[in-house]
Amino acid sequence: MVHTLMKLPFNENALEPYISKETIQYHYDKHHAGYVNKLNSLIENTEYAEMTLEEIIKKSAGNIFNNASQIYNHDFYFKGMSSKENVPSNILSEWIERDFGSMEEFKKHFLQTAVNLFGSGWAWLSIDKKGNLVIEARSNADNPLLDEHIPLLTCDVWEHAYYIVTPEKPKHLPKIGTLEVI
Ligand code: MN
Repeated sequence: MVHTLMKLPFNENALEPYISKETIQYHYDKHHAGYVNKLNSLIENTEYAEMTLEEIIKKSAGNIFNNASQIYNHDFYFKGMSSKENVPSNILSEWIERDFGSMEEFKKHFLQTAVNLFGSGWAWLSIDKKGNLVIEARSNADNPLLDEHIPLLTCDVWEHAYYIVTPEKPKHLPKIGTLEVI
């Protein structure tokens, strides 16, 4: 199957002043599209040609894994952001309080994990195999699916996600939204 670039769920300038239009243009139009094109050319006439993205992630290694996983990770990242303020569902709020003590503690721990990640990678909020929420730092293109975790939220800590300077300094920290998965 041919993999396609997801449609961005917001306008390129919708996240300003936190994430600039230029950053989104580079990140989505150049990097994200690049992973899609690269994967399609790498899997042509291979055993991966008819697999879904998740199947490729679970079965491949090296360059094919890196490009497939980066497509998954970026799809997740862009779908997890919005220009509108969101609140977590009731059940997610309960689980966050159960596993981190409070929303404030969760935010602190999540941001700390992202900031402390050395080099390129991703910070994730996932559900582990025991049903607990976990915050994970994963390097490069690594993916929670490999440990059978269910991902809920991610933050891209690759330099290309933020290296273009935001024209105006944000007045407050961005709100952490939630996904509609639970
Ligand atoms: Mn990225």
